[in-house]
This record gives sequence, C-alpha cells and structure tokens, in this order.
Amino acid sequence: MLQSNVYPTAELRAADAAHYLHPFTDFKALAREGSRIIVKADGVWLWDSEGNRMLDGMAGLWCTNVGHGRREIADAVHAQMTELAYYNSFFKTTNAPAIRLAEKLAALAPEHVNRVFFCGSGSEANDTVLRMVRYYWALKGKPSKQIVISRRNAYHGSTVAGASLGGMAPMHGQGGLPIPGIVHIQQPYWFGEGGDLSPDEFGVVAARELERMIHTLGIDNVAAFIAEPIQGAGGVIIPPETYWPEIKRICARHDILLVADEVITGFGRTGRWFGSDFYGLEPDLMPIAKGLTSGTIPMGGVMVSDRVADVVVGIGEEFFHGYTYSGHPTAAAAALETLRIMEEEKLVERVATDIGPYMQARWTALGDHPLVGEARMVGLIGALELVPAKPSRALRFAPVGEVGTLARDISFRNGLVMRAVRDSLIIAPPLVISHAEVDELVRLARLTLDVTWEALKAQGKVAA
Ligand SMILES: *Cc1c(COP(=O)(O)O)cnc(C)c1O
Repeated sequence: MLQSNVYPTAELRAADAAHYLHPFTDFKALAREGSRIIVKADGVWLWDSEGNRMLDGMAGLWCTNVGHGRREIADAVHAQMTELAYYNSFFKTTNAPAIRLAEKLAALAPEHVNRVFFCGSGSEANDTVLRMVRYYWALKGKPSKQIVISRRNAYHGSTVAGASLGGMAPMHGQGGLPIPGIVHIQQPYWFGEGGDLSPDEFGVVAARELERMIHTLGIDNVAAFIAEPIQGAGGVIIPPETYWPEIKRICARHDILLVADEVITGFGRTGRWFGSDFYGLEPDLMPIAKGLTSGTIPMGGVMVSDRVADVVVGIGEEFFHGYTYSGHPTAAAAALETLRIMEEEKLVERVATDIGPYMQARWTALGDHPLVGEARMVGLIGALELVPAKPSRALRFAPVGEVGTLARDISFRNGLVMRAVRDSLIIAPPLVISHAEVDELVRLARLTLDVTWEALKAQGKVAA
C-alpha cells in the first residue's frame, strides 16, 4: 500500500510549482491547480502520491510498450552500468550494446533498411533527418534540393528542427518557426477536413497536395517529404487507404526522399514492427525513439535505407554530426532488453491477431455513444471524435478544445488516463494490456463519455 506520509504531496507540489518548468505547460495555471505526482507504475497501472490508481491508457507518452515496472530491463541496465555505464562513439570507438542494437534493428527493419544513427530522442532524430537529407542531396550533386515538405498538424518533436518540421501552428507562433526551407501541406484528416468527399476520394486529394507543392517549389529544390504513418500527437489521424499508395507514387516519380517518422508507430503499435510495414511505405529514413526502450531510458535514432547509406557511407568523408549520447551503452542495453521481451512475449503478433482486434472491436463500439462522431483504431492506437450533434461532421464544439479537456479531466478522475487533442480523446495503451484490462479501459471510457454528456447537457451544449 502507498502511504501519503511517504510522499509529502503538498510539499512536493509547492517545490514543483516553485522550481520545475514542465513541458507544454501554462506554468502559472499549473502552479495554481497543483500537479499530480506519479509515484509508482506496474503493467498498465499508475499510482499517484495520494494513493489513486489509474489505468495508463497512453503508455506513458506513447512509449511504455512492454508495460511499466519491467524488472528485466532494470536488471539489464544495472548490469550494463556496472560494466560500462557510458562511453561515446566518437574517435573510432564503439561499444558492444550499441553494436548489438544496431544489428538487431537492421534485422527488424524493412529489408532495404540496414543502418542506424543513434541519438537521444525523437526530436534529435528529426534534427538528424534534416541534416542528413540535405547532405544526401549535396553529395548527389544536387545541393539545391534543400526543402523538406511536411504536413500541417504533424508532430516531429520540439527542438528547432523538430518543431519546424512539425505542423503545429501554436508552436510555430512562439519563436519564429518554422525555420526557412520547410513547408507544410494538407493532412489526411478525413473526419475533420474531408468535407463531402468519401474517405478514399479525400485520401487522394490530400496526397496530390504533395505533387502540387513539389511543382510549385520546383523538383530541383525539394529534398524530402516527412510524415508519421499515423499522426499521433495531432489526434491519432489514421489516413484513408488511398493516401499512402499515392504519396509513395509521388515521392518515387519526383525522386524525393520519403521520411517515415516512426517515433510512435515503431515497435509494434500497429501490429507490425513498424508503421512502414503496415502501410508498405519503403521509406528512405525512419526516425525512431519512444518504444525503442519502452520509455525506460531516453534513446532515439534514424534508421537509414541502403539508398541513402550507399551515398553517405560511400562518399568516404566525415559527416560532421553526432551527439554525446549517440549509442549510449546503458540506453542500448535497455533497448536490447525491451526488444528481447517483445520477441519473447510475441507482442507484435499479439497486437496483430489477438489484443489488437479485441480492443478495436470494443473501442469502435463506443461509436454508438451520442457524443462520439467517430471511433477509430489501428493496432493499439485510437481516437474518439466528440461532436455536439452526430452524425454531422461539420458541427463542432466552440471554442475548440474545451470539451476535449473537460472529458480528459473527467477521465483522469474516473481512473483512466486518456489524452485530449482538440475535441477528441486519444488512446495508446501498453501492448501488454490484458483482455480484462481492455474491458476495464472501455468501461471507464464509456463512463467518461456518460459523465461528460450529462455535464454538457446541463450546460445546454448538446441536444437533450
Ligand atoms: C514524440 C514524437 C517525437 C519527438 O520525440 P521526443 O523524444 O519527445 O523528442 C517526434 N516524432 C513523433 C512522431 C513523435 O510522436
């Protein structure tokens, strides 16, 4: 049992408010409300300092794929730290866990992807991407190919390059982003932006924006297109079936690199090792992070295809790029143990054939709720679109985000961690979630919808 005297909540909250600037936070509002202090986690469960237990429907932040509290990873990290906690990979040195991990990732990745550049996070991975695609084209004798095309409402991290590649308008609004050489096109968000088109028609229209932008900018100026196979932070936007084949065709036809940001979709989330396998993307670069270590130790990387490696390796000159923590042996040990667990417990297959289909059926059944305009899920990543008057997709709550936040807060109080994006609720539980835990998750999600519906009815914001 947790005892509140072990965690002096009030005192910790005061110190938190006084000294700790949290990510993506209104500091002043949080200091007023007080933060929730998470003190323990096991499997899909979290406990806060007041003894509340919650089901972690977001796998931390899309990362604890093998579940919280895995002693095997702690043991592997302990053993590695005792032997060699840190060394760098500069100056012609390397270390065994980083080598083994690179070898393992090459085996798991699509056929044509056999190398990895390690870094510390998904944001750093996308900084590496920006450097590497421009370097690639310079080496190919086409230095004018500099521009990277991305999508509005994409998320590629929070460093200067990551936030610029991302398409989050509020992030761009602070600090003069995006940096030059990055442009954004339509996202394949049918529910929100598809208008009167069918999903399949809209998928083609959204993809052809890429072709139009390439022509506008000039083929000689475009280096790459970057996209998440399924947009995560943007609201779990699952593209229509027609979208990716058309994007693939356009990239191949115009000879621009395709970067599949696998930071969320990598490591089993879709029921395949990578989202690129799920959609058959054959990308040129794949940024990875999050599930790589199941969130236990920060680590990221960029998986590099033979096409790109042949040039950047083949040239025989130094790539002036790298990080102190590239190939960190302790992080690599955590990643190796994570991947070993995933294989031993057949978690990818489990998402494809067992828990995935089970949860998809339970989750999409929430679409019958009067507040839910669409319930969607691939693998174990899904969303609920909250609307005031279904089946209309055009009528939405105003101001945007208020109802989503209300529902999110209600869900927390009910004991289920979901995340709100605009007026949708999103979910991505650990891949080890049991059938009984899925039942409990869906029961709590429905309770959240009911309580939210009643609150909105009382405010006259939905039809009674
Ligand atoms: C989380 C995320 C990132 C950024 O990763 P960090 O480790 O937070 O820097 C990049 N791309 C995608 C798709 C993400 O979801």
